[in-house]
Amino acid sequence: MILVVNSGSSSIKFSLYEYKNNNDIEKLASGMAEQIKVNGKIIITYQGNKHEIDISLPDHKVAIEAILSKLDELKIIKDIKDIQGVGYRVVHGGTISKSSIIDEKVHKQIQDSSKLAPLHNPPALLVIDKFKEFLPHSKHVACFDTAYHQTMPERNYIYPVNIEWYKKYDVRKYGFHGTSFNYINKKFEEIVGKEKNNLIVCHLGNGASICSIKEGKSFDTTMGLTPLAGIMMGSRSGDVDPSIINYMCTSLNKSPNEINEMLNNNSGLLGISGVSSDIRYVIEGYNKNDKMCTLAIEIYTQKIANFIIQMINQQNQKIDAIIFTAGIGENSQIVVEKVVGKLPLLNISVDQELNNKKYEDYIKINTPTSKIDIYKIRTNEEIMICKDVITFLKK
Ligand code: ADP
Repeated sequence: MILVVNSGSSSIKFSLYEYKNNNDIEKLASGMAEQIKVNGKIIITYQGNKHEIDISLPDHKVAIEAILSKLDELKIIKDIKDIQGVGYRVVHGGTISKSSIIDEKVHKQIQDSSKLAPLHNPPALLVIDKFKEFLPHSKHVACFDTAYHQTMPERNYIYPVNIEWYKKYDVRKYGFHGTSFNYINKKFEEIVGKEKNNLIVCHLGNGASICSIKEGKSFDTTMGLTPLAGIMMGSRSGDVDPSIINYMCTSLNKSPNEINEMLNNNSGLLGISGVSSDIRYVIEGYNKNDKMCTLAIEIYTQKIANFIIQMINQQNQKIDAIIFTAGIGENSQIVVEKVVGKLPLLNISVDQELNNKKYEDYIKINTPTSKIDIYKIRTNEEIMICKDVITFLKK
């Protein structure tokens, strides 16, 4: 069995997979521990039943103990030793280019990268350390959001600032959502039966970024040193004039940290519409002609279109497909329609019926005359992490 873990500052999401030697992977159960340090709740879905248990979770250690004991109580695992491997989503891995067994060196790299992902890496490390304690027999593998982007050429990851910032302080573009982009690239290979594709992949979830994939590898991406950069998101601003930070520190008499927090949590769709960071509510307003919701949706889709055209220009070769994925990309017809509508120079178009159609794991939605194929593909970061763990189990 393989456990896939995604931890945040107050939650631990997990999925348990069974894998047979012939590479069959089956999801057995999934769930989460939430409201850690606040109240505490464990939710486990197993065989179609959802079990919700209120339980005090003062810290991550207690939460992990509780998850393992509930998996045991519900008879989902017979023996803890059946968990052969644990795969962790780790947001920042610095310049590590692949999923890695968490030895001392990798542990140190995750720790060192905490300064670049202070909200994400510390809780991930805490959870890794605890699972290692409880499951000493298992292989523990870190899968980094940054790893897939390590193929970007220097000219795409160096910022036009003093080069000493890069040399001394590691200031460069790292990029995120790499596990998702890697999954989508492989899935597309499977769909078309061809490797080394040139793709523009729009991962539009709460956090959102676009990846330019050239011959199967990350060539450029919109997120940067941190996941705040690039396109506008649910509550994050994406790229803005960097002088705004200094200006607003002075205007509001706040610290750079406080302004940074506002750019992360009180901007984007939420900041403009004043309604929500969840696009479904902003679309509701847009459908009722609410002025600020409409403005938010227009800016949101324009920013995405601008980056798509920039990335296509930079690839300067035939693009095999533009792909939409993650919560918004997979489900919002309006966003896809509006983004494509804002790319008049590309001569591409979406078939509305296909765009509205229900689909399983992927659907091709362009019209026959569209110059570039357009797809919606459901991403699956968990299965990617699970497969990476299996690779190490086989070694
Ligand atoms: P994350 O992993 O970053 O939290 P997800 O990929 O799960 O993000 O996407 C979450 C977002 O997807 C939500 O903010 C929500 O607005 C959006 N979403 C989910 N379902 C739909 C839908 N049917 N239509 C439009 N947006 C949706």
